[in-house]
Amino acid sequence: MQSIRDRYLQALDHIAAAARSAGRDPSDVRLVVVTKKQPMEVVRAAIDAGVSILGENYPEEGVMKIQYLSNFSTVEWHLIGHVQSRKAKLVAENFNYLHSLDSLKLAKKLDGFCRDAGRVLPVLLEFNVGGEESKSGWEASDEARWQALLEEVNAVLSLPNLRMCGLMTMPPLGDTAEFSRPFFQKLKRLQTYLASQFPQANFSELSMGTSADYEVAVHEGATFVRIGTSIVGARQYKTEA
Ligand SMILES: *Cc1c(COP(=O)(O)O)cnc(C)c1O
Repeated sequence: MQSIRDRYLQALDHIAAAARSAGRDPSDVRLVVVTKKQPMEVVRAAIDAGVSILGENYPEEGVMKIQYLSNFSTVEWHLIGHVQSRKAKLVAENFNYLHSLDSLKLAKKLDGFCRDAGRVLPVLLEFNVGGEESKSGWEASDEARWQALLEEVNAVLSLPNLRMCGLMTMPPLGDTAEFSRPFFQKLKRLQTYLASQFPQANFSELSMGTSADYEVAVHEGATFVRIGTSIVGARQYKTEA
């Protein structure tokens, strides 16, 4: 049986190969290893394997792990799941990065808690480019209506304790990796659009791709891929969101 370390190194190889085949520098793609619903031993094994960024979906579960593993100060903890407003304080005080900023209301709460804590939180805006009703993220499936996003994006950009870094998406579930490609391409076009509308802002990061489709995501410009099961195995327990 392969170890977490073997599968981590294999994923890094696949990312590097996908980057090179797209004419990209492999070092421009960072791997977030997703440990949601994984027990502490698995998180420890990932850290021991050399993982430098861990991704968690649920603020409370993540904070418990951050506190328990606080000696590993070089590991970055990224929150990648939907954040309810009442969890904004936990996120502002404990995580290094938020991939899933999905409303202006949450942005304002995070900004206030970051100010109180004397921190600046790097954030990505999450967009729903597949038009699914159940998905979080700003609705951005209809390119003809992207202009309607600008007012809220501008409001997020004005918050001094959040640092805008780019965009994130989770495409609809498909049977093949290729199914995700047009959604990744759409997020890339949205990045270009926002950069043209806000030339002074930074939207350089694109967080897209999971175990199922990360190589396609790298072809299409991902700078973060978020991989769980294919490195750390099936998720093992349920937690409350
Ligand atoms: C769970 C999750 C992942 C990782 O998915 P895997 O299929 O385990 O690789 C990536 N991104 C988000 C937002 C997730 O919730």
